[in-house]
Amino acid sequence: MYRAKFNNGKLYRLQEIVVDVPSVVSALAENYREAIFKIDWQHASFVKTVEALQIQHNGQLLSIQSQRFIFAAGEGNENLLQQLSITQPKMQRRPLHQVWVKHDYPHPLYAHCIATSSSPRLTISSHATPDGKWIWYLGGGLATKGVDQTEPELIATAKEEMKALFSWIDFSQAQWGCLRINRAEPKQGDFMLPDNAYAKSCGNVIVAWPTKLTLSPDLANKVVELLRQEQISPKYPGLSLLAALPRPEVAQAFFELID
Ligand SMILES: Cc1cc2nc3c(=O)[nH]c(=O)nc-3n(C[C@H](O)[C@H](O)[C@H](O)COP(=O)(O)OP(=O)(O)OC[C@H]3O[C@@H](n4cnc5c(N)ncnc54)[C@H](O)[C@@H]3O)c2cc1C
Repeated sequence: MYRAKFNNGKLYRLQEIVVDVPSVVSALAENYREAIFKIDWQHASFVKTVEALQIQHNGQLLSIQSQRFIFAAGEGNENLLQQLSITQPKMQRRPLHQVWVKHDYPHPLYAHCIATSSSPRLTISSHATPDGKWIWYLGGGLATKGVDQTEPELIATAKEEMKALFSWIDFSQAQWGCLRINRAEPKQGDFMLPDNAYAKSCGNVIVAWPTKLTLSPDLANKVVELLRQEQISPKYPGLSLLAALPRPEVAQAFFELID
C-alpha cells in the first residue's frame, strides 16, 4: 500500500482492481455468442409454473423448455417473478443519484474520499470520451444523499464538494449531469446491503442477484451448488430452432452517449 501525506489529508494507494465493464461484458458474451438471444418481451411470456418460455417470432411460436430457468436480470427479476406469481424472494431497490462531470483536467481518477462515516463521502471513477476528455463519475455519499435532491440541487452540491476536495482543479468550464440508478437485491429485514451473492430455487426457477459485481464468482458457485443439490446436469439439445431469433448488441454505456 502506498501512503502519502498532504496538507489537507492522507492519500493511500489500494490494491483494488478497476474493471472496464463494457469490455468485461463483451469478453463474457464472446464465449457464448451462439447461446445468447434478444427476446422481445412484448411477444414472449412464461407459461405458468414454468412449463416453457414461449416466444412469438415472425409468425412462429417458439417454445423453450428447460430443467431450470435462471433469472439473473438485476432489477428485471422483479417483473419476471411477478409474471409467474412467485412471491418469494422479494426484491429491494437501493437508489442512487450519481453525478457525472466532463472536464478538461487531463487525468483519470479512481478514488474513495473517506471521512468519519463507514461509507465513502465520495467515490470517483473515470471514463475516457471519444474526444479525448475524461468524465469523472461521482458516487458514494453524494449519490446516496442525492436521491432526494433534484438534478440542479445535486449538481450544486457536487460542485461544492469538488471545490472542497479538489481545490486545485478548475471545473468552471465543466459539463455536469446526473443519472438515477437502482441497486437491486434480495429484500433484507434492515434494508441493508446483503453480505453475499444470492441464489434461491423456486420450483424450476433459480432467482439470482450477485448484489455486487465482485461477488459474481460467488453467485456462479451458488447456482452451480443448487444445480448439484437438485441433481440437474445440463443437457444441450442444440439451438438450431432458435437461430432465427435476433442477437443483442452490447449496450453503449451512458458516458459513451455524452457529447
Ligand atoms: C452506481 C453503482 C456503482 C456500483 N459500484 C460497484 C462496485 O464498485 N463494485 C461492485 O462490485 N459492484 C458495484 N455495483 C453493483 C453492481 O453494479 C451490480 O451488483 C451488478 O451490476 C449486478 O449485476 P446483474 O447482472 O445482476 O444486474 P444488472 O447489471 O442490472 O444487469 C441486468 C441486465 O438484465 C437486463 N434485463 C432486465 N430484465 C430483463 C429481461 N426480462 N430479459 C432480458 N434481460 C433483462 C437489464 O437490461 C440488464 O442489462 C454498483 C452499482 C451501481 C448502481
